[in-house]
Amino acid sequence: MLAGVYRGIGRLECKEVKAPTINENEALVKVRAAAICGTDMKIYTKGHFAIKEGDERILGHEFSGEIVELGKNVKGYEVGMRVGVEPNIGCGRCSSCRKGLISICPEYVCLGITIDGAFAEYVKINEMAMMQGNMIPFDENTDFDAAALAEPLACCYNGFESVRTGPGDYAIVVGAGPIGILHQQLSRLAGASKVMVADISDERLSFVERFEPDVIINSNREDLVEAVMKHTEGKGADVVITACPVVDIQRKAVLMAAKKGRICLFGGLPKGQDMVEINTNIIHYNSIVLTGTTGSTVSQYEKALDLIHDKKIDTKSLISKRFTIDEIKEAFDYALSGKGLKTIIEFA
Ligand SMILES: [Zn+2]
Ligand SMILES: [Zn+2]
Repeated sequence: MLAGVYRGIGRLECKEVKAPTINENEALVKVRAAAICGTDMKIYTKGHFAIKEGDERILGHEFSGEIVELGKNVKGYEVGMRVGVEPNIGCGRCSSCRKGLISICPEYVCLGITIDGAFAEYVKINEMAMMQGNMIPFDENTDFDAAALAEPLACCYNGFESVRTGPGDYAIVVGAGPIGILHQQLSRLAGASKVMVADISDERLSFVERFEPDVIINSNREDLVEAVMKHTEGKGADVVITACPVVDIQRKAVLMAAKKGRICLFGGLPKGQDMVEINTNIIHYNSIVLTGTTGSTVSQYEKALDLIHDKKIDTKSLISKRFTIDEIKEAFDYALSGKGLKTIIEFA
């Protein structure tokens, strides 16, 4: 089969590799759509601790496809089913896994990062993933490309649950990339009475317009904290989501939060820049909840697929460009150019 094989920093090529084989408890999925994630770009440009230089790994963890083969012990699925797959696979026996929190399991593996993923014609869904329900069917009302984005949506849903956005809330999402746009849509869906979006790039801010935020702030031109105060009658935002890897925004998050506000530090910071000076007295006296999330649970992934299926969240509009697997390098170059939102590898 053809696969996009990563071999170390800056080394990625499409080549012929052996298709995976499955045992009696596993499933083989023919990939139909796989999206390039910020994490993939980070691996490509900076490497990853779990992939040694020179080791070969098929990247790709945001995907959907069709079941083409099932082990004889697998029940509840059929060949031909359309499926999405939560890529984080927990160890199944630690206290995090017992709570369903697979993305903070100390021993989790991830399709497309620690084991071969979906920038390939076929991907194996292993025994652990099958036993823990990571593979979830969806019907023909959901397109493969829309479903491929269930993974980033599930991660956003995790962040969304941590700040409990509700009716009447004022919400600010900082960062107008794909993740910021998904957070924006979730805030709206939850009934936030004012959804504000900020970014430093006019180009990225132009993408968010179609999702109709109440307020768009270019934080290069306007002071972000002042703008949020102005649009919230001086109260600050009930919900602050930082969907960008920027130290200064994390520091400012407490300054733009309302009393009893909830902050989710959704985007991680580059290594070495993660010591941030925050005024903790504001957290203390204003009873602010400061939290962060990473990845998602299988249940949140299932929720994300449902939201896409029910057309409550539009993931399709995030897709800027489509490539085939033999164009994997061009696809990464395009994604890295920052010109679009989501880049998809499509398979016939
Ligand atoms: Zn991702
Ligand atoms: Zn575990």
